[in-house]
Amino acid sequence: MSQPLPRAVAVLGATGSIGASALDVIARHPQRLRASVLSAGSQVDALVALCAKFRPDHAVIADGGRFRQLQAGLQDAGLATQAHAGDEALEALAASEACDTVVAAIVGAAGLSSTLAAVRAGKRLLLANKESLVLAGELLTRAADAAGAEIIPIDSEHNAIFQCLRSRQAQHDVRRIVLTASGGPFRGHSRNALAGVTPEQAVAHPKWSMGPKISVDSATLMNKGLELIEAHHLFRVGGDRLSVLVHPQSLVHSLVEFVDGSTLAQMGLPDMRTSLAVGLGWPERIESGVAGLDLLAQGRLDFEAPDTGVFPCLRLAWQAMAAGGTAPAVLNAANEVAVSAFLQGQIGFLSIPALVEDALAAQPAAPAESLDALLAADAQARRLTEQAIAGHRSRA
Ligand code: NAD
Ligand code: MG
Repeated sequence: MSQPLPRAVAVLGATGSIGASALDVIARHPQRLRASVLSAGSQVDALVALCAKFRPDHAVIADGGRFRQLQAGLQDAGLATQAHAGDEALEALAASEACDTVVAAIVGAAGLSSTLAAVRAGKRLLLANKESLVLAGELLTRAADAAGAEIIPIDSEHNAIFQCLRSRQAQHDVRRIVLTASGGPFRGHSRNALAGVTPEQAVAHPKWSMGPKISVDSATLMNKGLELIEAHHLFRVGGDRLSVLVHPQSLVHSLVEFVDGSTLAQMGLPDMRTSLAVGLGWPERIESGVAGLDLLAQGRLDFEAPDTGVFPCLRLAWQAMAAGGTAPAVLNAANEVAVSAFLQGQIGFLSIPALVEDALAAQPAAPAESLDALLAADAQARRLTEQAIAGHRSRA
């Protein structure tokens, strides 16, 4: 049965990089798509400005202390948009009649509760928030299956794989899935050269323009590690059928190799609007504003193996995926805390993998029987990593 048009889309994390790309695609299709719910973490002014442009029914600020400010901002702008605040309001709206599609574009584990609420309510989920899959992948995909919710991956690699498979199910005819990685801004650097890199250098990604956290993850290669775990859950494949290939031009977004020797790849310019248009239009193709690929102008495509000696985060993620249970939750939580400390100038770049490794060693993988068990492992890893950083600063 086709959905009534226009589709009502909730953009969670609307003020971020993915949020902006999603709204750009939505604005190109007024007959087909409508932004009905917009949310932000704490930036009230940016959220009100988006409401003035997109006229959603609801706006949510996650920071509960900013409700009045949001309400006043919407009122002053003469908007009929209803103001809400806090995580519970976000979860309720993601599950409500206010939307039929949810773009999960909040950064970090903070995105899990609204993402879960959306799939439990059977929404179409356009999932950019990879951390929620790393933290609770099995729970999230099981909840989606139980509710008949469709998950369309937005991360460019997983969106590429989804396009090659035309589903989220890698059947027995899939021999191997290859995730491509740009290698980030420090590709080819020695470990010594990485010791002194600054947050400004780390967020200056050569190919993609993204939020600060994922930009640092790309520089450490933790992003690819998180994506391995993401692929494992999304496509239900074990580590033996997954691999990573560095491809600095970022034009081949990933590849699927089948048992007959065929390899399908999805290619395109590095612009997240393509993935978002796939999700927003699926199963139809819609305009995204992204130009086609001119391979003659690009000239060449290069490939190399990732260097896990210089970038241990990728190795740590493999280990966490193999260990399973609570290990990926610990990996993700320690990484979030370490990246935030690095961005604030509290620790050096090489401390990121060191802190993640320590957290994994301190919390051996336990069975992840429930959401509570996962959230407890996440909280414990955050505490231990924060303590380690505080100790490091008091010694410095
Ligand atoms: P961003 O930092 O640009 O935006 C994050 C958004 O989340 C903002 O709207 C912010 O207000 C909101 N937010 C932050 N903390 C919050 C909280 N505690 N509660 C509620 N909302 C909160 O990040 P981004 O680059 O757009 O990335 C968003 C997600 O998409 C991440 O999980 C990232 O890994 C994934 N992703 C991004 C890209 C990209 O190109 N930017 C590509 C693939 C995947
Ligand atoms: Mg990606």
